[in-house]
Amino acid sequence: MSKSIQAIRGMNDCLPEQTRLWQWMEQQIRTVVASYGYEEIRMPIVESTDLFKRSIGEVTDIVEKEMYTFEDRNGDSLTLRPEGTASCVRAGNEHGLLYNQQQRLWYMGPMFRHERPQKGRYRQFHQFGIEVFGLHGPDIDAEVILLSARLWKHFGIQDNVVLELNSLGSNEARAQYKEKLVTFLSQHKDKLDEDSLRRLETNPLRILDSKNPEVQAVVADAPKLSDNLDAESQQHFQDLCERLSALGIKYQVNERLVRGLDYYNRTVFEWVTKDLGAQGTVCAGGRYDGLVSQLGGKPTPAVGFAMGLERLALLLEQVEALTIREAVDVYIAATGAEAEVAATQLGETLRDALPQIRVQNHCGGGNFKKQMKRADKSGANIALIIGESELQNSVVTLKHLRQETEQQSIPRQDVVATVASLTNVSK
Ligand code: ATP
Ligand code: MG
Repeated sequence: MSKSIQAIRGMNDCLPEQTRLWQWMEQQIRTVVASYGYEEIRMPIVESTDLFKRSIGEVTDIVEKEMYTFEDRNGDSLTLRPEGTASCVRAGNEHGLLYNQQQRLWYMGPMFRHERPQKGRYRQFHQFGIEVFGLHGPDIDAEVILLSARLWKHFGIQDNVVLELNSLGSNEARAQYKEKLVTFLSQHKDKLDEDSLRRLETNPLRILDSKNPEVQAVVADAPKLSDNLDAESQQHFQDLCERLSALGIKYQVNERLVRGLDYYNRTVFEWVTKDLGAQGTVCAGGRYDGLVSQLGGKPTPAVGFAMGLERLALLLEQVEALTIREAVDVYIAATGAEAEVAATQLGETLRDALPQIRVQNHCGGGNFKKQMKRADKSGANIALIIGESELQNSVVTLKHLRQETEQQSIPRQDVVATVASLTNVSK
């Protein structure tokens, strides 16, 4: 036997048992985004490396160490997308969707980052994201947050997530604050760890969200971002907070929330959970008013978020807020070649008449007992059986697989109506 080939580390198969959950999550997401009038955009998985360098930032974790970058056969540097926002802005600029327009967009799909795989952290993972363009007020920030909150309600996990909120201010105010922060931290270099010392040179704001207690102690006395906001950003943030309160959305202001990507300004937020250990951020986003022009478009305000679907799935499995339908409603068994053809025809008749129910025909022969085992495993509530006597009498035997009810003999012409009433669907 030759050696078997395995999947790439950190890139997972989604097996039928899990795809049920995934399809259900995706359906909920589609329902909620549609209910707010958002439209789907689909972008390629591969983009020019420059796109991510120019948007996410050269000295961010993602660009410095997490991207899957390669040269194609023409010698161009390409990258498997590590996130969706940059691609979405690129596409919007390229197709003239953004100039002088308002857009409410959403996307869903795989992203790639070369990180150390662990629970809730993978190398291929999936994000659902929304991006809104052309609106600058706190009203749309509130809507974006409200939409995510509605999703938690749909999923029944509203009590498992907490909203953390902060404002980064304008780019100018943030640059000034950065200088103050660097001056302060430079006086305490002896208490900074290696990571923070490196970030002092490259991305000092990230030191604010260091997990190291010693660094945190230094940061506690550092100048505060909130004391250094420009007046307009301060007003924007206050207005957003008031709107969220009026809408009944609870939040915690987290002064140390800065996000790891360079393009954010003003509002930033994360939905975090305590139920997933270290990988607790399920959804993260904020405003990125400078990105459209940074990528060659006209200045356009923008706000959005990305949700990690693996983390969402883990959370859903953990809180067991779900009863997902089994794969099959009706299982059709048959013995004998003639009966098998009749059973196949019956399956087709049911699918014609009741397209929303799921019908599985037994294939592969075998005795009645074996077929009933399969029926049970399929998850179906009812089995329809055709044998020789059923054939002769133009009936079907109906067996309840999940309850102690006597089996019945049903005339062939009544099967559709009986199945419809038993599966609660109307014809
Ligand atoms: P983290 O701090 O956990 O590394 P991040 O700040 O890098 O997250 P974002 O770039 O903001 O994450 O991505 C948005 C969301 O996508 C995250 O909140 C998370 O739910 C999910 N996500 C990010 N990276 C991964 C990954 N490697 N595996 C699974 N999900 C991920
Ligand atoms: Mg990360």
